[in-house]
Amino acid sequence: MSFIEDARWFSATPTAGPAGKPAAQGRVTLVGAGPGDPELLTLRAVKALRGASLVLYDHLVGREVLRYVADDADLIYVGKESSQHTLPQESIIDLMLRLARSGRSMVRLKGGDGFIFGRGGEEAQALAEAGIAFEVVPGITAAQGAGACAGIPLTHRDHAATLVFATGHLRGENEVALDWQALARPRQTVVIYMGMGTLPVICEQLVRHGLPAATPAALVEQASLPGQRCITGTLQDLPTLAEQHKVRPPALIVVGEVVALQPQLMRGMQGAVL
Ligand code: SAH
Repeated sequence: MSFIEDARWFSATPTAGPAGKPAAQGRVTLVGAGPGDPELLTLRAVKALRGASLVLYDHLVGREVLRYVADDADLIYVGKESSQHTLPQESIIDLMLRLARSGRSMVRLKGGDGFIFGRGGEEAQALAEAGIAFEVVPGITAAQGAGACAGIPLTHRDHAATLVFATGHLRGENEVALDWQALARPRQTVVIYMGMGTLPVICEQLVRHGLPAATPAALVEQASLPGQRCITGTLQDLPTLAEQHKVRPPALIVVGEVVALQPQLMRGMQGAVL
């Protein structure tokens, strides 16, 4: 497996087609890598990874997941952390298009599910516009990984009839782009991705828009990975708890009555013999 850490220098040399004809275009497989634990990959994802000669992967893809890539495949890191973009999104798309046009098929590997806060939609649009064939392999999204691994059922007949996924990455400085009214409804579980930087604003706004300050809330850090932690509290004390426990991304914020079931379920899960 060859790691190509600086994707800008990766040249897309056209491969020769049969009888001197230009090579056919490559295909792109957009694969969701799940929340980190390689056992949470789908069979289809593993098949795509094993068969790939080129993989473009993101920051949140678990290192262990990359073990499924063939030894002789090229691996390009195009990851981005919110403050430190390795490649801007447009350059990632450019690179994919260039490689596909040069005849290289590839797996585009993203954490969780590519269509859930993963910009998979933008990449699929660009491929469709460019007439490059692609397929999409879903992944287990972080919210599902966190729910299952930390013992928080995301819906429950007694507690939550609605489940909402939202982004806490609020565009621009302090600009709040969320529909707080909708997020603060009762009998609902809200899972917020990319919300660690805006956690105090999120908790404050949810309370201001009608949720009791005592509403159970949790932070699930590194869901499904060996370093997983789940910190539970309420909307009122979650920002303080986050500081005390030094919770760092990747982490999800889970808000709703279902969080109150976490200790009981966790005890059960720890006692379980697999
Ligand atoms: N497409 C991804 C989400 C990418 S957005 C998915 O479907 O899961 C990045 C955010 O996802 C992070 O800021 C964090 O909130 C969340 N996230 C991703 N992996 C996580 C993990 N293992 N544990 C907790 N949160 C995670």
